[in-house]
Order: sequence, then C-alpha cells, then structure tokens
Amino acid sequence: MAVKVVKFGGTSMADAGAINQVADIVKSDPERRYVVVSAPGKRFSGDTKVTDLLYACYHDLEINGECSATFAKIRERFEGIVKDLGLDLDMKPILDEVEKKMVVNYSVDYCASRGEYLSAIVLAKKLGFEFIDAEKIMIFDDNGNFMPEQTNELVAKTLKDIRYAVIPGFYGADGTGSIHTFSRGGSDITGAVVARAADAVIYENWTDVDGFMSADPRIVENPTIIKKLSYKELRELAYMGANVLHPEAVFPVKACGIPINIRNTFNPQAPGTLIVAEVEEDEFAKRQITGVAGKKGYSIIFIEKELMNSELGFGRRVLSVLEYYNILFEHMPSGIGTLSIVVSDNELAGKEDVVLERIRNIVKPDNIEIKSGISLISTVGHGMSFRPGTAAKLCEALAKANINIRMIDQGSSELNIIVAVATQDYEKAVNAIYHAFA
Ligand code: ADP
Ligand code: ASP
Ligand code: MG
Repeated sequence: MAVKVVKFGGTSMADAGAINQVADIVKSDPERRYVVVSAPGKRFSGDTKVTDLLYACYHDLEINGECSATFAKIRERFEGIVKDLGLDLDMKPILDEVEKKMVVNYSVDYCASRGEYLSAIVLAKKLGFEFIDAEKIMIFDDNGNFMPEQTNELVAKTLKDIRYAVIPGFYGADGTGSIHTFSRGGSDITGAVVARAADAVIYENWTDVDGFMSADPRIVENPTIIKKLSYKELRELAYMGANVLHPEAVFPVKACGIPINIRNTFNPQAPGTLIVAEVEEDEFAKRQITGVAGKKGYSIIFIEKELMNSELGFGRRVLSVLEYYNILFEHMPSGIGTLSIVVSDNELAGKEDVVLERIRNIVKPDNIEIKSGISLISTVGHGMSFRPGTAAKLCEALAKANINIRMIDQGSSELNIIVAVATQDYEKAVNAIYHAFA
C-alpha cells in the first residue's frame, strides 16, 4: 500500500474540535499512515502557543528553579483537550513526569520539545495508532546538529514494522539521550524526514490556510493561492519569510522528488498547493512572478572607497572580518567604489563597533557606516527568467508608491529579485509589488 505522510501544525492541534477534524482527515484515507504533529497552537488571537508557554517555563526555571505556575497552564490545556475528546487517557502521571524531568534536565530544548511529545501521545490515543517518540528515531549530534543520513536509515528501519504511527515533530536526541530541537516551526522538517524515510508518495502538510499564497495574508488582503510551485521557489519564499513551511523542510523530500501538498485542516476539500521538482513551462507563461515574501530586521554595512575595484582581494578582506566574528551575510551588491553588505540584525547584534573598527583597519575605506532599519523583500518566480521588464515593473510600482529602494539585487539565476526598503515602508512595499503583478 502506498504511504502518505501527514503533518498537522499548531492550529490543527489547538483544541478538541480541531483534533477531531485531524482524526477525520487521517481516517478518511488508509494510506495516511504516518502522522507528525506540532504542539497545540493558538485557539484565538491573543492566545499563547504551548511551545511559548514551555519556553516561559524554562525562563521560570532559570529564575526560580521551578515553573509550576506556568506549567499549570499547560496542564490545563492538555487535560481540557483529553476531556473534551472523551479519551480514556490519564494525563496526570504523564504531565507530572514531564514537569519533574523539566526541573531535573533543566535544558531549554528539553522544555520546548514537550508540547510535541504530549500532543503526539494524545493524537495516537485518539487515532488508535502507535506512538513513536522522536527521541528514539531523530538523531542529532552532541552540538545539536541534525544528522540526516543516520536518521533516514533508522526511521526507515523503525517504520518497516509499524503500519500506523504518530510521531512528535520538532525534536530528537543525541547519543547521550539529550534532547535537541530544530528552530521554530521545525515540525515541518520532521514531517519531511519521515516522508523520505517512509518512501512516501506525498508529504501532506496540513495547516490553517488554503495553500501557499503569493503573499503573506497578514500583509496583503486575499492573496491568490499558488496551485503549484517548484522546490526552488518554495525555498526562496520560505527563507524570505513565507513561514507557512519551514525553509529547511524542502531538503529531505527534494532529494527523492516527493511532492509536498499544503492543505487546510479546516477546509479539507480545497486542493491546496502542490510543491514539486519542476513546474510545467505553460504554467510560467501564465505568471510573471510566483510570489512575494519579506522579512524585517536587517542592516546594511555600507563601505565606500575610491578605486576599490582595482584593489585585489578587497572583498575577501572585508568578508574575512565577518567570518572572524561569526557573522553570516545575506547579500553583497557592489559598485566600482562601493560595497553594501546586508546582514540580519540578529547576526550583527552587539558586534557593530568591533566590526566597523576591524574593517577600517584592514581595508582603510574612505567611509563606512551601518544603515539600520532595513527590510528585505524577495520577488520570486521561474517566470521572470528571459522575460524583459520584470525589474522595471517592480521598480515602477515602488516608485509610484513613493518608496525608496535602498538596495536591489538579482542573481543571474533570475529566480528572484531582492529589494531592501526602510522598515517603515515594508507593508506598503509588499502590497505595491504584489498588486503590480496580480
Ligand atoms: P502551522 O502551525 O500549521 O505550522 P504556521 O503558523 O507555521 O502553521 O503557518 C501558517 C501561517 O503562515 C498562515 O496562517 C499564514 O498566516 C502564514 N503565512 C505567511 N506567509 C504565507 C504565505 N505566503 N502563504 C500562506 N500562509 C502564509
Ligand atoms: N511547536 C514548535 C513551534 O512553535 C514547532 C512547530 O510548531 O513546528 O515552533
Ligand atoms: Mg509551521
């Protein structure tokens, strides 16, 4: 029998009503054999995700050595869910043990992972599926780096003997048994890893929207749903803030060409978005761009020096400073006498002065400064390549909206055009670009 791997996100696990929907979806297709789940998310705007409560527990532990008041809220949520589902499952001893171990283990990743652990226990009971603890099958090294190949072998071997299972997303363990998590939203990665190991025909990622949209629905009103996009487009959009899917979730499935289908738990009739290796040519003929995504929180290190273009090794020496301070950079457009390096504020935080000082000493620029308050917007699509006028249209749209472009960068793959704008213009700029191509 073909295998489908299905992952349900936080909103899909938020309360008993949503979990009943999840159960209906899983049970309606016997090929949906392996289910990966997130921790319960928000039930209404203003609510707190269980994972955020767990991070708060860790914070309490750091300060007070105990976290019972915050953990009580987590107890209440899970006990409420189990009661409302009418399950014959006593959560008290399970929750007691989790709270006790959180105090003893005292690790941020251990605490953060417990939402997925508890969520999977509940859903396994509801479905009558086996519960497989992710700490037994998702392998990390002692430094918290995920080990994809070892994990793939172990998961494949484990699933061979198990027909139906629920697996918690987001975490795994190292050789000593210490828990490590992926970055936020990482249950998407677990789902993709399981899909690869199970040799699934499809990886269904069930969430709370009708599919991958051509812009963030929190910024643009009613953006169109993208029916089909390529792994490459997905990677660009997800990396640049379209967080409907974790940007790293694409790698395990891309390696073996398993399509990803983004679906809506609360509207299961909608076909959603299909993410595949290649989208047909005629699809691109119809659309100039596939989507727009963006992120706030960047700075530009701006360097000016006359004749920098004829100084051999100039760029390398500047970048060696970033490497020395362990700073990743995003983009580096240059002119004959200028170099702009776009860096996320998180990378640069606290290191601004030393970085400037060291670059000054090494390359003796005429001028160097950090321009902060920058947002990046990426306009993505295979349809842009060899089609004149995309950049012109984009720039015109921004000009008409009276938005100044602080930087523009288009790689020769022509898969995306990145613009940097002042953060106060961010939402307006995303809307201007989206509507120019809609
Ligand atoms: P889950 O908990 O199911 O993993 P997430 O909150 O991580 O769900 O992702 C779904 C959310 O992503 C949507 O509710 C939507 O607000 C947001 N989002 C941002 N960009 C996009 C986009 N381009 N298309 C669809 N949703 C997007
Ligand atoms: N629960 C985790 C988070 O909130 C992981 C996930 O939902 O994918 O980030
Ligand atoms: Mg998510």
